[in-house]
Amino acid sequence: MRRGLPALAVAAVVVLTANSAARAQAAGNGDKLNVVASFSILRDWVAIVGGDRVAVSALVGPSADAHVYAPTPRDAKIVGAARLIVVNGLGFEGWMDRLVQASATRAPVIVASAGVVPLPPPYPPPQAGEGKSQYPPPLAGEGRVGGRFGNAAAGIDPHAWQSVRNAEIYVSNIRDGLMRADPQGRETYEANAAAYVQELGRLDADIRRAVATIPPARRKVITTHDAFGYFAADYGIEFVAVQGVSTETEASARDIARIIRAIREQNIPALFFENAVDPRLVRRIAAETGARIGGTLFSDALTAPPGPAATYVDMMRHNIGKIVDALK
Ligand SMILES: [Zn+2]
Repeated sequence: MRRGLPALAVAAVVVLTANSAARAQAAGNGDKLNVVASFSILRDWVAIVGGDRVAVSALVGPSADAHVYAPTPRDAKIVGAARLIVVNGLGFEGWMDRLVQASATRAPVIVASAGVVPLPPPYPPPQAGEGKSQYPPPLAGEGRVGGRFGNAAAGIDPHAWQSVRNAEIYVSNIRDGLMRADPQGRETYEANAAAYVQELGRLDADIRRAVATIPPARRKVITTHDAFGYFAADYGIEFVAVQGVSTETEASARDIARIIRAIREQNIPALFFENAVDPRLVRRIAAETGARIGGTLFSDALTAPPGPAATYVDMMRHNIGKIVDALK
C-alpha cells in the first residue's frame, strides 16, 4: 500500500501538468475561440471562416497522412483544450473517436462533410476472409478488387473535399459550427464564409474551363491512391488508381507490370504520383509506355508554406494545372 502511494502522487502531478499545459495553450490564444481540426484542409477552412476570432490547429499537419495517423497524448491535450472540434467524417479519421474519448472533452464535434452526397469508394471493400493477398487491387478486367484503407470498408469514399461544390458544404458547416460556439462572431463568420464561397465558385468555374481544353479521349490519368473519386465525378477526368505503389511499400515487379499494362490498354496519356516514388521506377514506366510524367498531385494534405498547395484553393489550382499540362 505504502509503496503504491508515491506512484499515485506522480500520476497526480502528471495529470495536473497536463491540465495546466492545456490551459496555458488555451490562454495563449487570448480571447480567441480555440478550435482543433483533424487535418490540414479543414484547418485552412476554419482559419478562413474564423478570421481573427479563431485560433485553429490541425492534428494531422501538412504533408501528413490522416488515414494512418496515430494520435499522441499531446493530441489528447490539444483536443481537451479546444472549444470546437472539426472533423471530416465519412470514415476518414478512424482514430478520432477514441481520441475524443481519451481527451474527455465536452466541446462539440462538427462533421464538416455533413450533407454531401457520399460516393462509394473507387474500389469495393474487401469481403470477409479476403486477406492482404487481395492488395493491391487488380485493375479493371482482373476480377474482384479490394480496398486499402479502413474507410473503404465503410463503403464510402471519404475524400469529398476533392469536389469544390462539396467544399462549399464543408464551409457552411464550419460557419454554422463557429456561430454556435461563438454567437457574438456571427457577422464575421457569415461574411468570411460568403466571401470564400465566391472564391470557390470562381475556382470551380476555372477547373471546368481548364478541363474543357483537354480532348475528351485524353481525360484519364494514373494515380497511386484512390483519392480523386469526387473530382472525377464533378469534372470528368478519369483516375485509374494503382494502389500498392506508395511510400509505404516498394513497388513490386507485378505492380510495375500492372501500371504498364493499364497505360497501354486504356491509352492513358499521363501518370501522377501523390508521394515521392522512386524516380527510376517512374522514368522506366514512362520510357516503356510513352506516357508523360505529370508530377505530383495533392489530395489529403496541404503543403507547408511556401509549398505549391499551402491552401485548399492553391491545392486545387495546382492539381488542375498539372493535369492540363500533362493531358493537353
Ligand atoms: Zn486519402
